[in-house]
Amino acid sequence: MPLEDKIRQLEATDKLHIWHPFTQMKDWVNEDNHPLIITEARDTFIKDIRGRWYLDGVSSLWVNLLGHRRKEIDEAIKGQLEKAAHSTLLGLANEASIELAGRLSSLMEKSFPASNLNKIFYSDNGSTAVEVALKMAFQYWRHRGFEKKTAFLSLENGYHGDTLGAVSVGGVGIFHDTFRPLLFKTFKAPSPYCYRCPLRRKKETCRLACAEKVEGILKKNADKIAALILEPMVQAAGGMIIFPSGYLKRVRELCLKYNVLLIADEVATGFGRTGRMFASEHEEAAPDILCLSKGITGGYMPLAVTVAREEIYNAFLGEYAELKTFFHGHSYTGNPLACAAAIAVLDIFGKEDVLTSSRGKIGMLQKWLRETESLPHVGEARGLGLMAGVELVREKRKKEPYPWEERMGWRVALRCLEKGLFIRPLGNVLVIMPPLSISIENLKMMLEIIADSINETTD
Ligand SMILES: *Cc1c(COP(=O)(O)O)cnc(C)c1O
Repeated sequence: MPLEDKIRQLEATDKLHIWHPFTQMKDWVNEDNHPLIITEARDTFIKDIRGRWYLDGVSSLWVNLLGHRRKEIDEAIKGQLEKAAHSTLLGLANEASIELAGRLSSLMEKSFPASNLNKIFYSDNGSTAVEVALKMAFQYWRHRGFEKKTAFLSLENGYHGDTLGAVSVGGVGIFHDTFRPLLFKTFKAPSPYCYRCPLRRKKETCRLACAEKVEGILKKNADKIAALILEPMVQAAGGMIIFPSGYLKRVRELCLKYNVLLIADEVATGFGRTGRMFASEHEEAAPDILCLSKGITGGYMPLAVTVAREEIYNAFLGEYAELKTFFHGHSYTGNPLACAAAIAVLDIFGKEDVLTSSRGKIGMLQKWLRETESLPHVGEARGLGLMAGVELVREKRKKEPYPWEERMGWRVALRCLEKGLFIRPLGNVLVIMPPLSISIENLKMMLEIIADSINETTD
């Protein structure tokens, strides 16, 4: 079949049968919309069906860590495929999941010494890792005899996934408000978003007013709160909001003081994205429960883990008839193909010292952010490690945002695409999230394209 016919057919079938996530399908099926159909990927690039290569500036939506078609990961999956593609953890154990659990526990000991984060509960995506964490925290307090601790405290602008528990602790209005009647009530603390201070404080006089708000809520309600959940250091989907220094450390202390568990959702920040293996390490804020997914398999396979401290796990031990069992599980729990990919990722981290070799790139990105902040329509350009956001504004002095209907972020991203770079904005915030393995040259090219596209699109 001639290529153009094949493309037309694929596009027609897509528009007829696929309901795309987070997408207004009326726009998608419009005859002027010709989505890129990706057929191949290599290193930091993706290729569409016409043979055009694009720089993958979003790491395949934040999952790809070490590049596409990494030989070691390809081979690990193929090797496992020759043994078994899947076997359940309900009533059985399997080799790959055992090895990975051991490796992850050692990693936890290295990142969070003496915190006993050594019990690994498997699931298959970030949202379920969060669901597991919430149910675990809730049930933990019941076993401890604190039956009133049934609520959660979370942050405005937080994002923890799209299942209902995760949405209940979410704080991104545009995604979550529709579902409000279905959700359980949660306490909400302000987002530590200094550029648009929710408490209208001046940066100089703030002294972590946001953390004081957390304390206010805990002081009054700790007897009702099972856990505080947050994305440590970077509220990613909420707009790449970076915590002010000292905030996370203070929140960790407050949770201890008020006997509330701390759940760290490192689904986006984990595995080196912020320059440390886990973002919680920046402020030595070892959580009680840790959620990981996205980068864990290098972006190859769906896999998630919820890591719990041994003390939490121990509270679930008892005679069968006491019904202290954690009744939760998924069909693809501990999938061996995914676990094999994750082991290969950890091997690469060990062998190549990925964290050290990303330092030069982090320095380059931080310098670019400072320069970019002086552009007339950039309100703030912020980042930690290789995660960054550029917030576009119509009027810089007044921090006046572009009206959302203008879709300025999306327009800049479209211009980037014309120049060979794929990025996906969050409203007026351009997201920069390249794989850790991106080369200096490709990172430079990516940043140049973004700066040019901002200049050519805004004014
Ligand atoms: C992406 C994300 C999730 C949800 O993960 P899915 O695999 O998309 O369900 C949860 N928490 C954070 C912080 C995320 O960035």
